[in-house]
Amino acid sequence: MTHNITLKPSGQNFAASEEESILAAALRHGINLPHSCRGGSCLSCRARVVGGEIRYRDGLPPALTAEEAADGWALLCQARAASDVAVEAAALETPGNIRIRRLPCRVHKMQRLSEDVMALFLKLPGFEPFEFLAGQYADILLADGRRRSFSMANPPHDAQILELHVRRVEGGAFTSHVFGHMKERDLLRIEGPLGQFYWRDESGRPAIMVAGGTGYAPIKSMLRHVYEDRQPHPVHFYWGARDLAGLYDKDVGARHDWSGFAFTPVLSEPAPGDGWRGRTGMVHRAVFEDKPDLSPFDVYMAGPPGMIEAARKDFVAAGLAPDRLFFDSFDYAADGREDPSDR
Ligand SMILES: Cc1cc2nc3c(=O)[nH]c(=O)nc-3n(C[C@H](O)[C@H](O)[C@H](O)COP(=O)(O)OP(=O)(O)OC[C@H]3O[C@@H](n4cnc5c(N)ncnc54)[C@H](O)[C@@H]3O)c2cc1C
Repeated sequence: MTHNITLKPSGQNFAASEEESILAAALRHGINLPHSCRGGSCLSCRARVVGGEIRYRDGLPPALTAEEAADGWALLCQARAASDVAVEAAALETPGNIRIRRLPCRVHKMQRLSEDVMALFLKLPGFEPFEFLAGQYADILLADGRRRSFSMANPPHDAQILELHVRRVEGGAFTSHVFGHMKERDLLRIEGPLGQFYWRDESGRPAIMVAGGTGYAPIKSMLRHVYEDRQPHPVHFYWGARDLAGLYDKDVGARHDWSGFAFTPVLSEPAPGDGWRGRTGMVHRAVFEDKPDLSPFDVYMAGPPGMIEAARKDFVAAGLAPDRLFFDSFDYAADGREDPSDR
């Protein structure tokens, strides 16, 4: 059964079946409501229901308290419409109003970047360019309805082939397949571009970029966008990994041709064989050591949820305005992320 969802106060509306989350229905209609993890944990899609009834397939999501739910708050990535619904939420406008699309693609090339990281190069159908903003991500749609998020590492001006950096997750459904069975010419389906983590061209402020592990992927897209397609801009990039092997792109430190670019690698547990004489510790702490006052900067960061959580708190405490902090937390897909409309 299908219901009508109305966004307040804009009056924008779309249809949602009882089987799909309100967020999934919105995205399917090209309406980009705020969201991130799609697993009911990050609260990015929290919104107030002001009319009609919703239900959750597996009970209240853990991130939502019973009091909040009674007060009308809902997590749209998990909530299903049980009647026509009115919800206070505003669609996000991305510059150029880029359309979210589902596309088939072919594995063009696979390249091992380190023991645990594989670069996947995906060839898209040739008929229409895949538009996105530097830093955004796409979801890989698995055959059983699950989806997995990966950031584009290539920049928008070089988008014939998408580059993803996939870190192997022990026991992970998709990443184990990538490392075990995937081969060149395999077919995949993606949905994108997604996310609000993208380079703000209009800002004239110097930027600090912080990546943990494969958080480097969206940062690489931004760096290539800034230095190959725009006016050079002051960027100081901090890349953190456990050991030297985790800094899997050896070229980034050698970008002497990028005017205004500084690079600081940081290792948390260098291996004895690394011969490391550089910075050690948590990557975001290295930022403070260099720049105790963050108020003049825009900060872009991507990586594991623990790093993002700690850095968010510490950076704002160091004078960074919250609206100058842009981030993607690489949360992993929760079971609740499955959506029949993805099949
Ligand atoms: C917006 C966004 C962008 C992302 N971009 C990238 C990217 O560019 N490169 C990249 O490598 N990853 C990225 N991720 C993380 C990536 O989506 C997950 O690691 C991926 O979904 C794992 O899929 P899987 O099927 O292999 O594991 P699953 O089958 O989902 O996981 C199996 C188990 O492993 C654990 N697990 C899963 N993922 C992680 C993790 N990341 N860390 C710790 N434990 C985990 C969980 O306990 C889970 O139950 C991104 C995530 C988001 C939300």
